[in-house]
Amino acid sequence: MDLRQVRLIMDLRQNGIQDVNVLSAIEKTPRHLFVPENFQEEAYENTALPIESGQTISQPAVVAMMTEAIVGDKRLRVLEIGTGSGYQTSVLAQLFRRVYTIERHGNLLKTAQARFDKLGLHNVTTRLGDGTKGWPEQAPFDRILVTAGATEIPEALLDQLRIGGILVIPIGPSSDAQSLQRVRKEADGLHVEDLGLVRFVPLVGEPPVR
Ligand code: SAM
Repeated sequence: MDLRQVRLIMDLRQNGIQDVNVLSAIEKTPRHLFVPENFQEEAYENTALPIESGQTISQPAVVAMMTEAIVGDKRLRVLEIGTGSGYQTSVLAQLFRRVYTIERHGNLLKTAQARFDKLGLHNVTTRLGDGTKGWPEQAPFDRILVTAGATEIPEALLDQLRIGGILVIPIGPSSDAQSLQRVRKEADGLHVEDLGLVRFVPLVGEPPVR
């Protein structure tokens, strides 16, 4: 690990991330492979960065917080909406048995898939599509993580969450800021917890861009 990675992990600890497995997964994920050439210098800064198609690679502190919010038994199956660069996916792949990830931009998904192959992450399954519809053929999921800002929780995702499962999703009226919500689905209904403010590009409920 070089100095920049050490500094990033220290920064995450200072941001309140405590789960050693989450910190270790981030430490082992080479973020420079997920950012464009012209942002290599900033790869280990604790900031979101632009990627292709007007999208972003999430800030490491937010990736860590969202991962910590769903971490549990290693045998669990996770659905991620918004593959983007594949960075968050790669962190999840080290902590869960299988990760299903959906992205609506074909070019982003192709690049992310090449990164999973290069890193030997064989427990990741990708799909080009509108993630607001979930992935019914693979449901139910133990965990669902949405990495784009929604105005409301898509009904299909709640339907595809197992009883006892957890959904984490940024919810807000604008793309300026959203509140990160952790939703537990129990037999007696949904239990919602606010995890704080985040800033994500919008969740777009439209057909994919091939
Ligand atoms: N977690 C990603 C990473 O680490 O690089 C960043 C995700 S980026 C903030 C949000 C992604 O969600 C974008 O790539 C965007 O194209 C995608 N997205 C938005 N709406 C979507 C939808 N309905 N279905 C699938 N992907 C969607």
